[in-house]
Amino acid sequence: MTVLCIGIDIGGTKTAAGLVREDGTVFGRIEAATPARSGPAAVIGRAEELVQRLRQVADDTVEGVGVGAAGVIDPCSGRVSASTDLIAGWAGTDLRGDLEHRLRLPVTVINDVHAHAVAEARVGAGSGVGRMLLFGLGTGIGGALTQDGVVEMGRRGVAGHFGHMPCKEAVGETCSCGKAGHLEAVASGPAILRRYRRATGDRHVPDTRAVFARAAAGVRAAEEVVETASVAIGEAIGGMVNACDPERTVLSGGLAFAGAAWLEQIRDAARNTLLPHLEDCPVLLSPLNGDAAIIGAALHHRRPGGHRS
Ligand SMILES: [Zn+2]
Repeated sequence: MTVLCIGIDIGGTKTAAGLVREDGTVFGRIEAATPARSGPAAVIGRAEELVQRLRQVADDTVEGVGVGAAGVIDPCSGRVSASTDLIAGWAGTDLRGDLEHRLRLPVTVINDVHAHAVAEARVGAGSGVGRMLLFGLGTGIGGALTQDGVVEMGRRGVAGHFGHMPCKEAVGETCSCGKAGHLEAVASGPAILRRYRRATGDRHVPDTRAVFARAAAGVRAAEEVVETASVAIGEAIGGMVNACDPERTVLSGGLAFAGAAWLEQIRDAARNTLLPHLEDCPVLLSPLNGDAAIIGAALHHRRPGGHRS
């Protein structure tokens, strides 16, 4: 009999869940809107509904639930210790305790980017690799360092906030965290859009994707904003690789897939920053699809110690 875990990915806009086998394959995947404005009880209620639906279709024993959630998660207690206002009132939520009480199943909670990194390290681009760096590029910039399939979470679960490293391209720019001069302030999707609008006065450009389209069409202001972002990201990757010596770096998140030219700019900037004997350390795109956080949360639940356990 196969033993299954349920993985759940609780994000600011949607909650997705699936049954996950030991090899990381997912089936029965379902998703629903996250009632983010209705508060934590509604959000947890939605996750509970999805789990109960999956338990009804699972032929085999479900041994537990792994959650990957937005926000800073205390790795010991499974509580949300800090959060943006993506989900109203999310900080302070006892996510693990509340879900275990509702489900009568063991629950493990980690941050969603950390969950993505676990999946990548165990069954994705970092499979078989001892040490891996992950950069998640999107609305924010986060990431993780993994060793033998285990995420280094840090003392408070905060490790991997690469978007909040100082960055010379971001001098004078205010970051989403309120401090100035951080990578995310020039290189996240919203930052690229904001900087293009500011440079051109064009209020009608609808989204970050449109800025990339203008850059591809040779619009100079768009090229400059995109190049600044790519160089800032590449330099941050290079600095982290120099500091941590991983075997490879994996890029994930919607912004990672903004095109071949963008990827090459990031790789060039990383190479220019790397110590000479680290220049061949590869920067790869994530091969996993949008299920990575579901997979990683479930695999982490099954074996928190990774290959070491
Ligand atoms: Zn910041």
